[in-house]
Amino acid sequence: GAIRRTCSPKASRPPTRSTCTDCFMNSILQCLSNTHDLRDYCLRNTHRTDLNNNSRAKAALMEEFAKLTQTLWTSASSEAISPSDFKMQIQKYAPRFVGYNQQDAQEFLRFLLDGLHNEVNRVTVKPRSLMEDFEHLSDDEKGKRMWNKYLESEDSKVVDLFVGQLKSTLTCSECGFCSTVFDPFWDLSLPIAKTSGEVSLIDCLRLFTKEDVLDGNERPTCHRCKTRRKCTKKFTIQKFPKILVLHLKRFSECRVRTSKLSTFVNFPLKELDLREFASDNSVNAVYNLYAVSNHTGTSLGGHYTAYCRNPCTGEWYTYNDSRVSPMSSSQVRSSDAYVLFYESATSSRL
Ligand SMILES: [Zn+2]
Repeated sequence: GAIRRTCSPKASRPPTRSTCTDCFMNSILQCLSNTHDLRDYCLRNTHRTDLNNNSRAKAALMEEFAKLTQTLWTSASSEAISPSDFKMQIQKYAPRFVGYNQQDAQEFLRFLLDGLHNEVNRVTVKPRSLMEDFEHLSDDEKGKRMWNKYLESEDSKVVDLFVGQLKSTLTCSECGFCSTVFDPFWDLSLPIAKTSGEVSLIDCLRLFTKEDVLDGNERPTCHRCKTRRKCTKKFTIQKFPKILVLHLKRFSECRVRTSKLSTFVNFPLKELDLREFASDNSVNAVYNLYAVSNHTGTSLGGHYTAYCRNPCTGEWYTYNDSRVSPMSSSQVRSSDAYVLFYESATSSRL
């Protein structure tokens, strides 16, 4: 299935504002509709159970998303689908995403997943948050308690699939005291480790998790010293999500103008092993790629496409608005790659 939209990437000149108003949306919708478990959730109408259990009056976004996914997967493959009903819901929900060129695909993804999650959240009455003291617990136990606490208010199919947990460790440079904080993440925004040429995805992850020094105005308060101290901060992944979304920070804002890095980030299609970034190095953290949202062009003008691996056949396809064509897996890696969708190998079917 394709999404209808007459929008062609202009290779020779950047597109004008009017040529392409929603390719960012189409690109993300294709990546999500090729997410095996989310697709099945929609195809089997399981979302209805979650909607009904919540008896929510305002739950149109999930319904339209499910309808769109069903249409994409059940209609004749040559036909283009217009996601106009879905876009109408998006317009109600988030007017800023409709009718404008050059929206950010990653921002839209975050926004959409959050919107879908809210409508199918199994928690209908959120508990009042109590300040609990987990400081006496081991890091692992603290991580588990924090995760359970998160699930007490945010628990849905979307969370089951996309949300992981990040651990940040602050170490006091004076007394060596370590304090840990655990935060859920829906994706990881990775700095690109080089401004030109080629770099590996692992290098970007290493830069993201590199020990950082917090000094000067950024000095945190050390709980043991009871005063602000120079500290080091380091991220590790405490809990790996089933679907790992990696956003390559190609766009940087420096004062007045945004610039784009077109560094070629070399990422594996299979067996991305993230064990070295885990809080607990004995865990199994291997991922396979199944979708990429690409951005061609500059920060001033550009176009989004998607490369997705069909969850049933394992074949790769290029989605360019209304056009779909088969592609070789050897073409998936390019310097246009912007948002990478990885699936845990333990839940992979291919
Ligand atoms: Zn200290």
